Order: sequence, then C-alpha cells, then structure tokens
Amino acid sequence: MSKYFLGIDLGGTKICCAAGNLEGNIKAQTILPTLAHEGEEAVLERIIKSVETVIGDLNASIEDVKAIGIGSPGPLDAEKGMIITTPNLPFKNFNITLPLKERFKVPVYLDNDANVAAIGEYLLGAGKGTNNMVYVTVSTGIGGGAILNGKIYRGTTSNALEVGHMTIVPDGPRCNCGNLGCAEAVASGTAIAKRAREAIESKVETSLKNYENVTAYEVFKEASKGDMVAKDILDKSLNYLGITIANIITSFDPEMVIIGGGVSQGGEIVFNKVREVVNTRNFKTMAESCKVVPAGLGSNAGAMGALALAMLESQES
Ligand SMILES: [Zn+2]
Repeated sequence: MSKYFLGIDLGGTKICCAAGNLEGNIKAQTILPTLAHEGEEAVLERIIKSVETVIGDLNASIEDVKAIGIGSPGPLDAEKGMIITTPNLPFKNFNITLPLKERFKVPVYLDNDANVAAIGEYLLGAGKGTNNMVYVTVSTGIGGGAILNGKIYRGTTSNALEVGHMTIVPDGPRCNCGNLGCAEAVASGTAIAKRAREAIESKVETSLKNYENVTAYEVFKEASKGDMVAKDILDKSLNYLGITIANIITSFDPEMVIIGGGVSQGGEIVFNKVREVVNTRNFKTMAESCKVVPAGLGSNAGAMGALALAMLESQES
C-alpha cells in the first residue's frame, strides 16, 4: 500500500527531493548540488540518489511510493517526459521520466516550473478548494500556469500561459524573446531594475542614485520612503502587471489569480495596484468574482509543487 508521493525540484544549482504523505504533508527532504557541468548522466544519477536518500530517511521502500513528480525549467514536453533544452541544466532532448520509471517502477511525471508552481498552489497553497485558477510568477521573468476544471492546462505544445510574452506595450522595450513590449519587458523585476538604472543615468533627482547595484527590491524600498522617481517606476510597471492580469482574467474567468515570485513580495502596493487595474478594465462581474491573492507556498514551493504534480496526475490516471 503506497503511503508517499515524491516531488523533485530540478534547478540549475540544486536538486531538491521531498517526500509527502498522501495529503501532501512533507515527511522527508534532501538537497543535492546539481553540478550541471558534469553532464546528463551524472545529474540523472544524482536525481536517482536524491530519491533513494529520501526513501532511506523515511525507512521506507520504493513500493511505498505512489508516484514521482519532477519540476524543471523549460521548454519541455510534459507528455513525453522530455526536457528539450534549458540554459542551466545539461539536458538536451533528454527523456528524464523514462530512466526513473525503469529504475523505480512507479509513475513519473514532468512539468515546467510555472505549471508545477500552479499545481502546488492549487492542491497545497492559496488555491485550495478552487476549480479554476491561474498562477502568475513575477520575478526576473514572468510565467504562469492555469488550472481549468481541476486540471492543468498545457496547450498544444506545452507552452500555454507563457504570459510573460503577452504583448502589453506595442512599441515597448525589446524582450529577451525578440518581441517588443512583452509583459516581461515592462513589468518583471528585471524591467523594474532596468527602469531604475535608466533613471540613475539620467539627470533626474532620485535616491536610487545612492545604490551601486539597483534591483527591484531597492525600487520598492525607496518608493516606500517617498522617492517620487521610484514611485513612478513602480506605478507604471505595476500598471502593466495589472493589465497582464486583467487580460488573463478576461481569457479564463478564473475564481482566483495567485501572484508569486520576488515582485509579489512587494506586498500591498503590488496587490492594490493590480486589483485597481482589474476593477477598472475587467467586466464588473468577472472582476468581482475573481480574487487576486499572494502565493501561499514559501521557499519550499518548488519541491511541494513537484509533489503536487505527482498527486494531481495520480488522481487523473
Ligand atoms: Zn517576450
């Protein structure tokens, strides 16, 4: 009788493997360095080792494990279990689920970080009890995942909810993807920091000039102290974030939009602005029925999301 689900958060610097009971409460956890430069097979071996370590810590055996979920940076093919390519991991067109299935004889599921985070919030975080919800992460980039009718919506090519590349400003700044004015180029933490650097290099008076290295965090800090330039940068960026969320609400009519990632840590200033834009731009009924809330899972969100992926996929099969 299986008692546990496993979740593996595969990152460029560390592999985090967590075991949870059937309700998703973490019972054991281990972290190993990724050492991506050692190549595909070495990293795969460390993933296997992380699973064995966690099972050992539980005094359990692999027969006690119902399923394993893996969250990885994309792009990837969730259906095939294939990591296509990713900047910080060695895998290129590498099927990561197959060797684990062969080794452990349990179902293994893969999905990208944003979808995994969405599933984590849906089953274990702020989205518990909802049926339709969208998760948006706003940090160096912007990404997202949608749960529709209790299922993760992946789209045709596993790229649904790449909301960071929704065009928000037609002639706006160039995005890393090549397009102009993507949400990521005008509303991410990186975009906020970039606007701050532009202000520092200009002739305007701003306390941001006191910083050698400026990130979104310093912009939030100086805005809260009353610096008008920092306030203006935030107001514009958060307005663009609000428009992004309003477009998402128009598309999906969800019960809840959950915002996570570094920029969401800005707190009330972020959520007040986003709600204001949503109330202005969305149909009244949709705006009123959709809650916009901060993510519920903390620093452990990656592994808990991967665990939740294993839980959700097991429900469906
Ligand atoms: Zn883009």
